[in-house]
Amino acid sequence: MKIAICPGSFDPVTLGHLDIIERAAAMFDEVVVLVMSNSSKNSAFSVEERMMLLQKCITSDKIKVDTYNGLLVEYAKKIDATAIVKGLRAVSDFDYEFQQALINKSLYPKIETVFMPAMGENMFLSSSMVKEVCRLDGDISPYVPKQIVDDIYLRCKGD
Ligand code: ADP
Repeated sequence: MKIAICPGSFDPVTLGHLDIIERAAAMFDEVVVLVMSNSSKNSAFSVEERMMLLQKCITSDKIKVDTYNGLLVEYAKKIDATAIVKGLRAVSDFDYEFQQALINKSLYPKIETVFMPAMGENMFLSSSMVKEVCRLDGDISPYVPKQIVDDIYLRCKGD
């Protein structure tokens, strides 16, 4: 069985993330969306909330949600994953993602990193952009799954 991991902070999940997750599910037998909890980023949602938001948007039973606060490759070894799937929005993503892919390969040679180009309409989309639009009272419904629009407004809308 070929298992892929889609790691990230998902604070919160966007249509850009979901597109990559679903495309990965079409290529692998199982996809684990891994909410990394060791990020230095200041998050709007707790890890448990981010996992709950992801669960609300996932319809396929090939896709699981989990969390980990250690080294990604250790998690990959633990579940015997074949690949790490990452979305690339622009050249600006590439430098960092390429470094990550090389260090992961060096730490665990059995793992491959697969890069998927973002869909044109998601190129500008990030969790931080969604939070900012929400804070300024803009319409976030084109950018996030409809199941979680209200959850994001409740947390991020400005006063
Ligand atoms: P962000 O970069 O928005 O904080 P994450 O750290 O949660 O997001 O990213 C997890 C993965 O999803 C990364 O591989 C990232 O490149 C990818 N990703 C994020 N936003 C998009 C998007 N709009 N389209 C495609 N892939 C994306």
